[in-house]
Amino acid sequence: MSGVPEHLPRRASEIAHWDDSADVVVVGYGCAGACAAIEAGRAGADVLVLERAGGGGGTSANSGGLLYLGGGTPLQKALGFDDEPEEMFRYLMAACGPEPDEELVRPYCEHSVEHFHWLVDCGWPLKEAFFTDAHEPPGDESLTYSGSELCWPFCDIAKPAPRGHCGTVVGPKGPLLMQILLGAADRAGARVRSGARAERLVVGADGSVVGVVGRSGGEAWAVRARRGVVLTSGGFIYNRTMVERYAPLLGRCLYKVGTEHDDGSGIQMAAAAGAATLRMDAGDVTLPLFPPVVLKQGVLVNRLGQRVLNEDSYMGRLGEFSLLHHDGRVWLVVDDAGFAQPANAPSQALSVGESWAELEAELGFPEGALQDTMAFYNRHATRGEDPLFRKQRAHLRPLDQPPYGALDLSVDKVIYAVFTLGGLWISPQGAVRTPSGEDIPGLYAAGRTTSGVAKQGYSSGLSLGDGSFFGRRAGRTAARRP
Ligand SMILES: Cc1cc2nc3c(=O)[nH]c(=O)nc-3n(C[C@H](O)[C@H](O)[C@H](O)COP(=O)(O)OP(=O)(O)OC[C@H]3O[C@@H](n4cnc5c(N)ncnc54)[C@H](O)[C@@H]3O)c2cc1C
Repeated sequence: MSGVPEHLPRRASEIAHWDDSADVVVVGYGCAGACAAIEAGRAGADVLVLERAGGGGGTSANSGGLLYLGGGTPLQKALGFDDEPEEMFRYLMAACGPEPDEELVRPYCEHSVEHFHWLVDCGWPLKEAFFTDAHEPPGDESLTYSGSELCWPFCDIAKPAPRGHCGTVVGPKGPLLMQILLGAADRAGARVRSGARAERLVVGADGSVVGVVGRSGGEAWAVRARRGVVLTSGGFIYNRTMVERYAPLLGRCLYKVGTEHDDGSGIQMAAAAGAATLRMDAGDVTLPLFPPVVLKQGVLVNRLGQRVLNEDSYMGRLGEFSLLHHDGRVWLVVDDAGFAQPANAPSQALSVGESWAELEAELGFPEGALQDTMAFYNRHATRGEDPLFRKQRAHLRPLDQPPYGALDLSVDKVIYAVFTLGGLWISPQGAVRTPSGEDIPGLYAAGRTTSGVAKQGYSSGLSLGDGSFFGRRAGRTAARRP
């Protein structure tokens, strides 16, 4: 990816006057930026945060506030769940691919318990209560399964454990998380300039990053960074040109998860200064099929009437398989006993038939395809088996009670929620890298500005999880730079 002119770096020698300066300059004040600011401040650096919105929060403040943590956190233990860093590592290496970056996944798992304690020390309130039903607790419980840990093939690869941790409050937990992190950043001494849009990096004669220039309203400013700049300005789902160019399939989804400030400015600024990007086509694609849980009894098929995967999988995996592997065209077929409207993806497009043959004809599938799929499925489900995808027994029964129905869950029919996962290539310490793998001196990044732990496959809590984890590292590394 090369830079666009609007984001080409300025030379330090061209800056006649610096309006402000700090040891560490953080661009973007969401979860990743707040954690960078806290750690840089605690390491003794003078920290200045530049935030283009009226105040901190970003997409993080609109989120569900779930963080993917594990390896044996005190909350997991208190609620009777065994977990080990190695099990978490095995799960993430299997679930975050293809080919996740071991260099990032390894420390994320090994230091997850320490990260848990750090968040609690910042004031994150947790309740020793486990939510069993879906992925994001609507109540005040603080622990839940938030991925496909219980589902095949992952349950064979790693011992399942719930790793979705969230602050205790009824309803969305993002505002609470950000209130706590912004408070901690304030106490760590971070100064904040709101309404300040960073536009370009400033580069010294030796190629190191020494500042940022931008605008507040119509007014231009230049800020000098004595030790480093940390880019934590979110992803690019709201930049139509970037999505069309790098992640065109994601552009087909009806609901963008983010704010209009997720326009890729941080990625573009860094790329224009020589940074490498990774997996720019990756994204979290959620098909919000559940609740109600009864729908997991259905069978998800593509336009050839063929089954797609185990229907009890995490919603991000359902969306990923549908959009990336089946052209975004999938139907959930159910029988009379298993029909319900999805709460978050109401589909008006329901086809009905008295037999599988009738439903198949109604849907325009190849003759016999759905009939074969359902005959095979029912034959094994009668014995409590699913030899193709090993759906959990709790959701497995023969679908044999007519009438039969098909919910059209295609990408143009229901809301697939999407945000980008591609971005800057970072080291485990949060340094931004060049295409040849060298650190760019003075440049750091975290959060959705980077390609993080989830390289494509996703589980809820990984964005705030890796954003906060590597945000801390980026802030610390920048603060310690001589
Ligand atoms: C409804 C909803 C629920 C979600 N639930 C979860 C969940 O439970 N768990 C989870 O892990 N993820 C969740 N997500 C996704 C997650 O919220 C985001 O991926 C995550 O918040 C990104 O964090 P960030 O720090 O990288 O970016 P952000 O939080 O978006 O922060 C980036 C900040 O940078 C600012 N900025 C942008 N460009 C510039 C610029 N040029 N100059 C200055 N400032 C700039 C922005 O204004 C923003 O404040 C959810 C998202 C939504 C919308």
